[in-house]
Amino acid sequence: MLKTVPSEVVDVAIVGGGAAGLATAIFAARRAPGTSIAVLDGARSLGAKILVAGGGRCNVTNRIVTPADYSGGSRNTIRRILSEFPVEETVAFFREIGVDLREEEHGKLFPTTNRARTVLDALLNEADCRGVCVRPAQRVTAIRTTDFGFQIETPAKTFAAGRVVLATGGRSLPKTGSDGGGYALARHLGHALVRTAPALVPLILAGDFHAPLAGIAQDVELAVKPADAKAIRVTGAMLWTHFGASGPAVLDISRHWLRARLVDREVGVHVNFLPGQEFNGVDEMLRTLATSQPKASVSKALSRLLPNRVADAVLVALEIDRSVTAANLPKDQRRKLAHALVDWPLQVTDSRGYAHAEVTAGGVPLSEIDPRTMASRKCPNLFLVGEILDVDGRIGGFNFQWAWSSAFVAGAAIAKPRT
Ligand SMILES: Cc1cc2nc3c(=O)[nH]c(=O)nc-3n(C[C@H](O)[C@H](O)[C@H](O)COP(=O)(O)OP(=O)(O)OC[C@H]3O[C@@H](n4cnc5c(N)ncnc54)[C@H](O)[C@@H]3O)c2cc1C
Repeated sequence: MLKTVPSEVVDVAIVGGGAAGLATAIFAARRAPGTSIAVLDGARSLGAKILVAGGGRCNVTNRIVTPADYSGGSRNTIRRILSEFPVEETVAFFREIGVDLREEEHGKLFPTTNRARTVLDALLNEADCRGVCVRPAQRVTAIRTTDFGFQIETPAKTFAAGRVVLATGGRSLPKTGSDGGGYALARHLGHALVRTAPALVPLILAGDFHAPLAGIAQDVELAVKPADAKAIRVTGAMLWTHFGASGPAVLDISRHWLRARLVDREVGVHVNFLPGQEFNGVDEMLRTLATSQPKASVSKALSRLLPNRVADAVLVALEIDRSVTAANLPKDQRRKLAHALVDWPLQVTDSRGYAHAEVTAGGVPLSEIDPRTMASRKCPNLFLVGEILDVDGRIGGFNFQWAWSSAFVAGAAIAKPRT
């Protein structure tokens, strides 16, 4: 076989030009002008995920970001990395590159233009101004260590670099180019992999309860109850769909169900239709109703607490006559109803998979990274940033904040002389 001679030599090769890769390049180039930095991305045009993010408006970060907003690796490590480049710095950075952010509900920060394109263009422009060489259509197929550093192969070219940053993302939305190929590169360079699962993904339900409710949104509390661990609870909006359930609360709980299922097949998701309420309180409320409004139908009373159609669907599923009055509701049915309202089991069969997931849970263990630099503890002069690592945030701008913060730490480290 023909031995390839590197057709291009750079100081730093960044594999993957999504949010984390582009930001790493910018932060490194700002601190160390003159360093030759190439961003190699398999996609023909960069930033597909930035463009689709936040419904095309890109939820860049959140007003308040804490380690508790993330799952995966150690909270302390996540805290340390976030604290190097907190939200205020993110806001200032985007202002510097021409993107003003505006706060919306739940602390989400979006560009004032309401266009994700503004964010991507600003990043690409800043990278260009700082002399970063962005190379689309360069899918990296192999990375080997050499005396010089690394040899990086794409189908068309071979690059030599003193340092490599892996910023290849996870497996979510594979059509954008983030198809998990980066994990193989990391493994080849000595890294392990925490088993991955889709996260922030809609859930598919069995049975015929959900389909007639498609389109209805309601506030709920969701709980995943693994057999051997504490229940995980999420409160927020749930949207019934023709296939099952979606909406922020469902997306947030999805990673917990999927990860629990990796070890426990029987794990369930339970809905509390009356967030904050417990069985005794709801039972008492139904009893009070029987005396205060004895002639009111249970269906009507329930429709003040949850969407009409959901209330009726619950009554039908429990085989309780919708026209029965509160006073005539037998005790066993009242207790059954109270129980169902606070602990309704969702028959989750699966998720909609990586094609519909916003992020990937699992990845390269954080313990294999030095949080002061994002340097690999397995391979000298290798760095890892963004979603390829075993960190996933809840919905609300937290995943991009992870990309910016981890990129900042890596960029600062790369700007220092090579060891
Ligand atoms: C529909 C959707 C909406 C989202 N909305 C938001 C939101 O509003 N706010 C938020 O915080 N998060 C959001 N996210 C999550 C967020 O987009 C990701 O967490 C973030 O983009 C991860 O950045 P990254 O740079 O680590 O990886 P990616 O953005 O996935 O980038 C990885 C890049 O690496 C390239 N690549 C992969 N393998 C190779 C290879 N072998 N060679 C060369 N290149 C390679 C890919 O082409 C890709 O460009 C959303 C995700 C999706 C799918």
